[in-house]
Amino acid sequence: MAENVESKENQAGRHQEVGHKSLLQSDALYQYILETSVYPREPEAMKELREITAKHPWNIMTTSADEGQFLNMLLKLINAKNTMEIGVYTGYSLLATALALPHDGKILAMDVNRENYELGLPVIQKAGVAHKIDFRESPALPVLDQMIKNGNYHGTFDFIFVDADKDNYLNYHKRLIDLVKIGGVIGYDNTLWNGSVVAPPDAPLRKYVRYYRDFVLELNKALAADPRIEICQLPVGDGITLCRRIS
Ligand code: SAM
Ligand code: CA
Repeated sequence: MAENVESKENQAGRHQEVGHKSLLQSDALYQYILETSVYPREPEAMKELREITAKHPWNIMTTSADEGQFLNMLLKLINAKNTMEIGVYTGYSLLATALALPHDGKILAMDVNRENYELGLPVIQKAGVAHKIDFRESPALPVLDQMIKNGNYHGTFDFIFVDADKDNYLNYHKRLIDLVKIGGVIGYDNTLWNGSVVAPPDAPLRKYVRYYRDFVLELNKALAADPRIEICQLPVGDGITLCRRIS
């Protein structure tokens, strides 16, 4: 019995290390993926940033190491050069992106909070990729509106990662569909929202999970019905929906 409690505690510790629990039903299988395929190939800078982030009180927000590996690979596969990120926190997904882009690649990165970005910035600088990042401390919507108004940004982004306020995802989508190029990809993160998308209406959910769940459900329906994109829902991290613009 005591052994069981201890092993559960150990597992909780390991998951905390990666920010949040995977949606995989088996903890052991998730740990196997991390230890066999992710951690041994994780760039030193990403490891360092992950460890710094693990000590931060909001570490549950970070992108998990397996998702970071996925994003890094995806960006290389699509030869992304001009990218955007909405929701930076301490910069784990940002660093995964920056390391994947060519030397002259660009990331327009937005977050309402600069302090957390600055926590990870020394690691990003040390990795030699900070020059690719244009960080704006701002809510994302007005920046997107300004770009659309400006007219020079239509269809210019190869990849956009959205990982911020879930109640605005559909507002972002209305604008991003115009800013991403045809053939480019938007990735919406947390689209399985802790598994709550299939929870019964009376399920005991944490307050913030319950609040944002309806927005995530609405987003998933809207993306599935949007003829301008092809989609692929992946159960990586907390669920990521890739949208490839086709018209
Ligand atoms: N991608 C990050 C990573 O890999 O660590 C995690 C991002 S975290 C889940 C969400 C972030 O969105 C927070 O840092 C928060 O400050 C930011 N955010 C919330 N509302 C926002 C808004 N309206 N515009 C831009 N960023 C926002
Ligand atoms: Ca996320």
